[in-house]
Amino acid sequence: MNRRHALKALAGLALCPVCAPAGFAAEGHHWSYEGEGGPAKWGDLDAANKVCTIGSQQSPIDIGTTVKSQLPPLKIKWGKSADTIVNNGHTIQLNFAEGSTLKLGDTTYKLLQVHFHRPSEHLIGGKNFPMEAHFVHRAESGALAVVGVLMATGKPNAAFSKVIATMPAKEGPAVKADAGFNPNALLPARQTYYRYPGSLTTPPCAEIVEWLLLTDSIQVAEADVASFAKLYPMNARPAQKDNRRYVLQSS
Ligand SMILES: [Zn+2]
Repeated sequence: MNRRHALKALAGLALCPVCAPAGFAAEGHHWSYEGEGGPAKWGDLDAANKVCTIGSQQSPIDIGTTVKSQLPPLKIKWGKSADTIVNNGHTIQLNFAEGSTLKLGDTTYKLLQVHFHRPSEHLIGGKNFPMEAHFVHRAESGALAVVGVLMATGKPNAAFSKVIATMPAKEGPAVKADAGFNPNALLPARQTYYRYPGSLTTPPCAEIVEWLLLTDSIQVAEADVASFAKLYPMNARPAQKDNRRYVLQSS
C-alpha cells in the first residue's frame, strides 16, 4: 500500500466507523455494486470479507412471513441536527456527534450515522421500495443496531430535501452538515418494526447487526429520489438467503 492509498485508507476509517474493523481491500480490488467488484465477488476481494460469501446471517433479506411478538418499543432520542455530510463513493452519509441514542430493552446504542440506498435493500413480500435509509447505532460492546426506514415517493420530506440540496456531488471529505437537517423528520409517526439478526450490507459484511426495519414507510419527493439517482442509480446489495431465520414483528 503506497502512501496515497494509506492516506485514503485513514480517511476511510474516519468517515466510515462501521467499516473500520474491516481492514482494507488489496490495491485494485475495490468493492462496488456491479462488475468486477460487485456483490457476488465481495467475499473474494479481501480475506476480511469472507463472511460476505460464507456467512449464514447476511443482510438484506426479503421479508415474507413474520412472527408477531411482544418486542420492546424503540426508544429513539436523537438530536435535531447532524455533524457532517459526506459523499463516500458508495452513498451519501450524515455523521452525528455524541448525544443521540437508541435504547432497546436494556441496551443503549449511540447513533453514528445515517446513509441511503437506492432502491431499498430490504424487500417486503418480494417488492422493493424506491429507497431505504439506514440509521447505524453502536453499543459499548461493539454490537450494532440499524434502524431501517423504507422510503416511498409521494409528499416531499423536508429533511430528505435538505440532504439532496446539500449533498456533495463528488466523492470527497466530509463537510459540515446543514443545521436545518433534522434526522427525526425521517421517521414515520408509528415506529413498529421487524427485527432479525443480520449483517452489514457492505463489505466486510460482519454479522453483528440487530436489524430493526420499521414497518411503516415514509414519503419523499420523486424529484429528490431522481436527484439521488443521478449520483447513485443503484447502491443496494441483493437480498440474501434467510437460512431459516425468524423475523419478529412488533405490534
Ligand atoms: Zn446501509
